[in-house]
Amino acid sequence: MSESRYFRPEIESLVGYTPGEQPQGGKFIKLNTNENPYPPSPRVLQAIRHTLESGLVRYPDPLATAFRQRAAEVLGVEPEWILCGNGSDDILTIVTRAFVGTGQILRLPSPSYVLYHTLAQIQGARSEEIDFRDDWTLPEAFYQSPPDLRLAFLPNPNSPSGTVVSRAEVGDLARRLPCPLLLDEAYADFADSHCVDLVREQERVLISRTLSKSYALAGLRFGFLIAQPQLIRRLVKVKDSYNCDALSIAGATAAIDDQLWLRENVARVRATRQRLATALEALGFTVTPSQANFVWCRHAERPARELYEQLKRNGLLVRYMDYPRWGDGLRISVGTDAQLDALLALLKTMV
Ligand SMILES: *Cc1c(COP(=O)(O)O)cnc(C)c1O
Repeated sequence: MSESRYFRPEIESLVGYTPGEQPQGGKFIKLNTNENPYPPSPRVLQAIRHTLESGLVRYPDPLATAFRQRAAEVLGVEPEWILCGNGSDDILTIVTRAFVGTGQILRLPSPSYVLYHTLAQIQGARSEEIDFRDDWTLPEAFYQSPPDLRLAFLPNPNSPSGTVVSRAEVGDLARRLPCPLLLDEAYADFADSHCVDLVREQERVLISRTLSKSYALAGLRFGFLIAQPQLIRRLVKVKDSYNCDALSIAGATAAIDDQLWLRENVARVRATRQRLATALEALGFTVTPSQANFVWCRHAERPARELYEQLKRNGLLVRYMDYPRWGDGLRISVGTDAQLDALLALLKTMV
């Protein structure tokens, strides 16, 4: 095709990241993209309405100062340690662009978030995928330092497994790597621990967070980075001038201000996660112990793809994943207790 010559070779060979299905209309129970099953804090809508009423004529604050101040208080850092983005995907893009050049190496664990690989490809970088060990710890290869290594991503908790690499292990990794280590803490609010204190200790540690999952705001698009200020100042140069819009800044600031809402929501999701895991095991699934708002499971007898398709025909969406070298399985988001009842009722007729 002639139009292909317009594109950089990296883009021509790119497959592109495929997000989980987002059916428009239809009455699916959606347990496939780890959205929160509950509505966000009511203060979020109030704040957005207020911003709408005062008008959208002016450009938003390029640094989202109001959010940085509130988030800094919540996390125990200073506002200069925070960079806001249009979802944490935007943060991951900024970090990749800033650190990794053409032909250089971006290290990823596998299986994990597929988008990382796409970011490396767009950049013309080489992504080096290193398989987790069977117990979901990192193998020695993840600690090695080839000359072109520029950045390592580690989702913690990981997706699709929901497992956590311990803080001691992460600290050790950051000390040994010669390059920045980005901890993607998209699911950390659902976990027993996080690594924010490591950012203070080690310049190399950067943490991305999102309001999409634990704050129930996937549609708002807001995420942020926590890193030492001398890094943030440079990363600001890479971002779009107005990467967060006025409505999302207002909504996100109200959301992070409502920590009571967060605690109650997380407690509910964690309780249902436990119920889900126990019930799946009773139906013959092997369930990986999860620290996130989803579980990864496989059935002893029924192939995962068949179960996925059968559930979908019955109006219930889960995520089917198939990884090279590692195999397939189902990633099921923790929904409401009523959604869980519907899932279990269907599964009981299938397995
Ligand atoms: C959902 C998810 C994100 C993306 O979050 P957005 O803020 O919605 O862009 C990042 N990393 C992982 C591992 C995720 O699962």
